[in-house]
Amino acid sequence: MTLIPIEWRFWPKVKIGPGCWEWTASLSKGYGQINIGGNYGKPLKAHRVAYELLVGPVPPNMDLDHICHNRACVNPSHLRVCTRGENVTNRKPTPADSGLKGAFRNHARWTSKIVWKGTIYRLGAFATKEEAHAAYCVAASQLHGQFANFGENQDCNYLTKQDRIDGEADDALGDL
Ligand SMILES: [Zn+2]
Repeated sequence: MTLIPIEWRFWPKVKIGPGCWEWTASLSKGYGQINIGGNYGKPLKAHRVAYELLVGPVPPNMDLDHICHNRACVNPSHLRVCTRGENVTNRKPTPADSGLKGAFRNHARWTSKIVWKGTIYRLGAFATKEEAHAAYCVAASQLHGQFANFGENQDCNYLTKQDRIDGEADDALGDL
């Protein structure tokens, strides 16, 4: 089968503005996506395609970060290549994909991270976002004390599980 070049299908779906270039076709978790063509594989992330078409390949194991925080944007000048850790630092405090502070989706699992005095503390990987958030809450209460911020309108009921989580958080902190 001959596929037409992806850029022929790509650019008509982009509304180029003075700032963000909005993806006008299918979105997944807020990110633009485009099928490879035919019935092949998983859809590609639109911002990644735009970057690779106009700038070049994204190095392996690196993320493309939206400097503008607009996931539907495919303007390459609003994207930067960064490590996973840098991407997390630049994120909004409560990631849209979990709604729980400190909980970040990582493929099928959830990870928890907290930033304290410029250092990212990785609190480990968890099966659920609630557990990841719980680990964050424990670390936050230890690090931030009375200034702990668990995210708006989120009560941390998880502190009753503190013994178990304390152990996990301590292990994770010990690995740094
Ligand atoms: Zn943008």
